Amino acid sequence: MKKLFLTTALIIITLIAAAAPDEGMWIPILIEKYNIKLMQEKGFKLTAEDIYSVNKACMKDAVMSFGGGCTGEFISPEGLLITNHHCGYGTIQRLSTLEKDYLTNGFWAMSRDQEIRAPGLSITILKRMEDVTGKVLNGVTDDMNAEARQKVINTNSEQIRRSAVEGTHYTARISPFFMGNQYFLMVYESFNDVRFVGAPPSAIGKFGGETDNWVWPRHTGDFSLWRVYANKENKPAAYSAENVPYKPLYHFPISLKGVKEGDFTMVFGYPGSTSQYVPSYYIDMMKNYINPKRIEIQTEKIDIMEAAMNTDPLIRLQYSAKKSGIANGWKKSIGEIQGLERMNTIAKKQEYEKRLTDWINADAARKVKYGHLLPAYEKLYSQMKDYQLVNSLTSDAFFSSGAEAVGFARNMMSLAGLYEKEPDQARISVIKTELVASAAGFFKNYNAATDKKLFVAVMKHYGDKLAPEWQAPEYIAIRNSCKGDFQALADKLYPVSIFTDEARFTTFVNSFTLGSLKKLEKDPLYRLARGASNLINDKVRGELNRISGEIQNLHPLYMTAQMEFEKDRVFYPDANSTLRVAYGEISGYYSKDAVYFRHYTTLKGIIEKDNPEIFDYDVPDKLKQLYASKDYGRYVQDGEVPVCFIANNHTTGGNSGSPVINADGHLIGINFDRAWEGVASDMAFNPEQSRNISLDMRYALFIIDKFAGAGYLLNEMTIIE
Ligand code: ASP
Repeated sequence: MKKLFLTTALIIITLIAAAAPDEGMWIPILIEKYNIKLMQEKGFKLTAEDIYSVNKACMKDAVMSFGGGCTGEFISPEGLLITNHHCGYGTIQRLSTLEKDYLTNGFWAMSRDQEIRAPGLSITILKRMEDVTGKVLNGVTDDMNAEARQKVINTNSEQIRRSAVEGTHYTARISPFFMGNQYFLMVYESFNDVRFVGAPPSAIGKFGGETDNWVWPRHTGDFSLWRVYANKENKPAAYSAENVPYKPLYHFPISLKGVKEGDFTMVFGYPGSTSQYVPSYYIDMMKNYINPKRIEIQTEKIDIMEAAMNTDPLIRLQYSAKKSGIANGWKKSIGEIQGLERMNTIAKKQEYEKRLTDWINADAARKVKYGHLLPAYEKLYSQMKDYQLVNSLTSDAFFSSGAEAVGFARNMMSLAGLYEKEPDQARISVIKTELVASAAGFFKNYNAATDKKLFVAVMKHYGDKLAPEWQAPEYIAIRNSCKGDFQALADKLYPVSIFTDEARFTTFVNSFTLGSLKKLEKDPLYRLARGASNLINDKVRGELNRISGEIQNLHPLYMTAQMEFEKDRVFYPDANSTLRVAYGEISGYYSKDAVYFRHYTTLKGIIEKDNPEIFDYDVPDKLKQLYASKDYGRYVQDGEVPVCFIANNHTTGGNSGSPVINADGHLIGINFDRAWEGVASDMAFNPEQSRNISLDMRYALFIIDKFAGAGYLLNEMTIIE
């Protein structure tokens, strides 16, 4: 086994060297070896050391994982960072009230003391990375089964991780690459005192809303500004008024020079996850089975939330982040299905798998080594389908912004559980305090009338779409007792349930005793929550974990087989939430026959889309005035203010907020999305149509300076004219 992995590592090296341009998310530490030459041929003027180095300040010191799911970057020596508006969205929403609605109206700190503390928000910077494959696999032998192998890997990893950060305040993680054929150690530094500096109103930061999401041409001013604070030693520290702005080792100079088609671009950030090397069975399961069914229930939820949001500004504030959370994945799934269909991805994969099988069967040793893989995948994915579907649909209906009162009622299971044996009073009191605290957060963003509509829709959907053997028994009993009339049930239930009103809930929890179990049990929302939760725990999760585990065990060898089979093919590791470099060029594309999309949009296009009747297209007056008076300052190209641009950098979710860098290493844009026609790039990158969408830095500065009047912030930036 050990030998096998070493062979694989050699193959990886050979294949990376043969890399083709543009497609791929590359490993910073290996840029010097495998990518820099090609990058320089494409116009990049700097060195690999300027991107990643442990010996000098470099770009990696300016790039961070922002809030766990996005990327951000420093744009000043004073800890000022920029990321997307949608990356800060949840935090901005949490900081907002109807009176101080930063989400709708925007916010700009006009001095440091106006910056707003953002509890719960943190950023993480990579200090160094190292290939630890040999150390992680030390002791792995040919005769080990998957479980034993994983045990050795875990023990080794733990040791490596511990010794990597001993005596420091850093954290370390070891991530598998190439489906578990290579391992890298990552050492990080995290900061928790992050403050809100500024964001445009949603009418700019989320301009175009869900309609324009995943679509080019685009006119969204998708940025927000934050500042990292540290203690006097420039080290991470919990929030304190004494903290001072963090001084990053590096910050990006911002270029006002603009972009033209063919210019080199590089995206440096934290792509989350891709599935480039999976077998056709996986794509078939997701594209033809799971996602179409999830899209149906998600559509119902989005429609209900949207209708409610249009009736009341408070509901808009309460549901905007929840709705965006659902709608983002929902729309991507729709685009992905269409893209996979257009590219004929499954048939192509099947054809590839046939050739792979022929190659495997042509050699006795290969047959022994790889012959079982594809048949095993076929069997496992066919077993997985239903478990996966039940898991997803149950969560969509009950727990992930579905019938929210039901999802919330699930929390009571922990308190009720404590009364099953001799009650531990100390523990009970802790849980009660936690429940009451969580109620404040939950009900701040809760509207019972809207939730009632969601309840009726998702309960019906769940019953209609899942076979009875996959439905929770409590659900079946409740549906039978209300004769399937969930509307009538909700009319009765919502005005009195423990879970639809903060005061009722808090009183109930605070006075909870053994005797309260009866009342709890009487509330159908609780029974539904418990039923769904138990169904997943007892009937679904175990099997799902077993099947996924077996699939995971096949992956390393399947990757090796593919690499050996296609010696000349370009291989790069799937995204895994580690720092990556994608490079390519500014490039328009044909969206369909004869329809070519230019590579950039301008303020003129925003004015063209203006429609005060539609929330997402209601252009702020101030922006219209700036357009009318052509008060553009230095943020102009050919007489217009550029807004967004596209390039063929290979990106995915998590790359939002990533710096887009030009040939000189200067910041020209903030990556935030992908264009509709190429959205399937997580499974199949299409060089003709896969495009990443970025905000032009000139638009961000124009908004800060001319629109917000917060031009003082530009004084701390390094601006290249
Ligand atoms: N919109 C994505 C994000 O939030 C970026 C992408 O998927 O292209 O990270």
